[in-house]
Amino acid sequence: MASYVAAIDQGTTSTRCMIFDHSGRVVAVNQKEHRQIFPKAGWVEHDPMEIWNNVRQVCAGALAKADLVSTDIAACGITNQRETTVVWEKDTGKPVYNAIVWQDTRTDEIVSELGATEGQNRFQAKTGLPLATYFSGPKVKWLLDNVDGIRERAEKGELLFGNMDTWVLWNCTGGPDGGLHVTDPTNASRTLLMDLETLQWDPDICAEIGVPMSMLPEIRSSSEVYGQFRERGVFAGIPIAGILGDQQAATFGQACLSPGEAKNTYGTGNFVLLNTGTERVISENGLLTTVGYKIGDNDTVYCLEGSIAVTGSLVQWLRDNLGMIGSAPEIEQVASTVEDNGGAYFVPAFSGLFAPHWRSDARGAIVGLTRYVNRGHLARAVLEATAFQTREVIEAMNADSGVPLKSLKVDGGMVVNELLMQFQADILGVPVIRPVVNETTALGAAYAAGLAVGFWGSEEDIRSNWAKDKQWDPSMTDEVREKQYTNWQKAVTKTFDWVD
Ligand code: ADP
Repeated sequence: MASYVAAIDQGTTSTRCMIFDHSGRVVAVNQKEHRQIFPKAGWVEHDPMEIWNNVRQVCAGALAKADLVSTDIAACGITNQRETTVVWEKDTGKPVYNAIVWQDTRTDEIVSELGATEGQNRFQAKTGLPLATYFSGPKVKWLLDNVDGIRERAEKGELLFGNMDTWVLWNCTGGPDGGLHVTDPTNASRTLLMDLETLQWDPDICAEIGVPMSMLPEIRSSSEVYGQFRERGVFAGIPIAGILGDQQAATFGQACLSPGEAKNTYGTGNFVLLNTGTERVISENGLLTTVGYKIGDNDTVYCLEGSIAVTGSLVQWLRDNLGMIGSAPEIEQVASTVEDNGGAYFVPAFSGLFAPHWRSDARGAIVGLTRYVNRGHLARAVLEATAFQTREVIEAMNADSGVPLKSLKVDGGMVVNELLMQFQADILGVPVIRPVVNETTALGAAYAAGLAVGFWGSEEDIRSNWAKDKQWDPSMTDEVREKQYTNWQKAVTKTFDWVD
């Protein structure tokens, strides 16, 4: 009897394989980073073959670390960086170009043209999304327009499109030799090409954006047995039974399973998702409407999402581009040398601004500088940027839903940072709660896979596995909170209109 479930988490900076037991505890984790390729300002690429090799290595490594064999694993789920776009040859499995990463802004002209007459929200009613560089559809168009000869080949059915979930699944299930070309509705809902109600590709939008439907994967549910790992290879024969985009997986892993429950993941960027149940709430305040999950034949559950492009990656920027800290955790030490931000505000609009502004013309700014400001203040301003951006999307969420959030569940790489968590509670004015298992993204994908094969009986098992590790309560006065937030809002306006 297999006693474990595995998850492949193909993230923005690394790929992980994690193995969980029935109580949702981590048994083994193996992780490998991949290269971030920056060919030009605003462009971000990954090498899909490097990522596929890493998937194989981390799966083998996790199994070895746990001292298990493939028959110990009941099922495997896949979760992934969303929107990142790969196009490859059906016959050979060779990508026609590097993967274009979600943060990449090269499609800004395509996006402006598409919105020129009917506006940025022309596809919002159907897809839940504004026209923005973030989503996959325009990235596919860019590839078809810019890589020699591939539009013709795509139209002949020789090329396949996928986000990272599809790329990984196709390779795991045989690649050119019968690989499954499948995605789930959470990933498909980030392409700008899927109708949120029918969970099918929309032919009119595909035609408008210029993406041939023959390249698109089949949309199946988020939790069902799609197929097995290919015969050769370390996970041979294990059913692949769950797919969730990383933020939806974290929402599931955080057991935000009822309307009104929300989580915030602090990674490369931040992503706040609020479960709105079976209702599709179309935002009037700059949020996305997205599929939360679809478990087998159950009704589709939707979420409102506030996506923030740059949070943890600003800490990396401070480390890699300025050399101001030696490692990401060191930022807390440096920030702790001062009491406050000294008047400095850092708006990291490196990829424009995502929710709730959706300004591709914005670029980063540090404002409020005086001779007084030192390294500690800047470190604080960097951490505070994450908390202020979170407040912006929570305010939008409160306005859209009409029900103010009472507390916020958090997870991701930055939530080990206690100073940030306290400031987050202070600036939101509600408690911030961290669970025992912080690896909610991989856990959510494992849950989706485990539910499909009966390893877990129902969503109740997920709720009962969730446990609190720590809570931060607000301790700032209303006056200080509002003053700081007003300063932040003023700083944000300084980042607009930097790109024609
Ligand atoms: P992703 O899944 O998006 O690749 P993770 O959840 O692994 O990201 O989080 C990594 C991010 O967290 C990095 O951007 C890193 O800069 C940031 N980070 C890691 N540790 C800390 C820390 N102690 N304080 C602040 N930021 C941190």
